[in-house]
Amino acid sequence: MARCLAAVLIAVSLAAHAESAAQLRLAGTLTLGEGDLPYGAGMPASHRLALVLFAFRDTAWKPSRILEAARAAAPLLAQCGVRLARAELRELEGGEPELRDLFTPVARQLLRRLQPAKPAVFFVRDTRNRPAFEGEAFGRGNTRTRPELAGTVWLTEKSRDLPVALAHELAHLLMDSGEHPDEPGNLMYEDTAPGNTRLSPQQCEQMRENGTANGWLQPVRE
Ligand SMILES: [Zn+2]
Repeated sequence: MARCLAAVLIAVSLAAHAESAAQLRLAGTLTLGEGDLPYGAGMPASHRLALVLFAFRDTAWKPSRILEAARAAAPLLAQCGVRLARAELRELEGGEPELRDLFTPVARQLLRRLQPAKPAVFFVRDTRNRPAFEGEAFGRGNTRTRPELAGTVWLTEKSRDLPVALAHELAHLLMDSGEHPDEPGNLMYEDTAPGNTRLSPQQCEQMRENGTANGWLQPVRE
């Protein structure tokens, strides 16, 4: 009897192992290039931004929703002379189930495995970080003890007004600032909402300066 039980336990542990070993893999890539992304500012772009976007195929995130958000966020960044020139959506499959939520220790592992170009945006199911935010941005200033996270934005399925939320988190990242000015109508107002879209000249300057210094924006050469 004891031998049978041992055999059963081994079989169960092998099955569990086989399941968790389902390889994390890239299932597909969809790319929006410069011609697909609006700019729309009255002035020529001074800086260029290329984003890599990630989502797991077995979450509620649909590629069309993500790419539409990138398209709609582009003009919000354009007011600072920043042209969103490329958005590449990489769809993921497999890996451990917990990779689908934001939780700092797990996110560090995921980033070590993916080694993505930055800035990278992760469209995740939920967050296990506390306090729980619908979106989080990791610049340089808030990643000294977790350097893998620098240059990443995370948005959960609960995110409202997705294009504004995406532009808001990208602006935190590029400015390398967690500030929320008490100014309704400003993109960085604490509550993201469709009408909160403006960036001040000072915010734009901070975005271009710190974004370039951190290697996340490329100055456009004349
Ligand atoms: Zn914020």
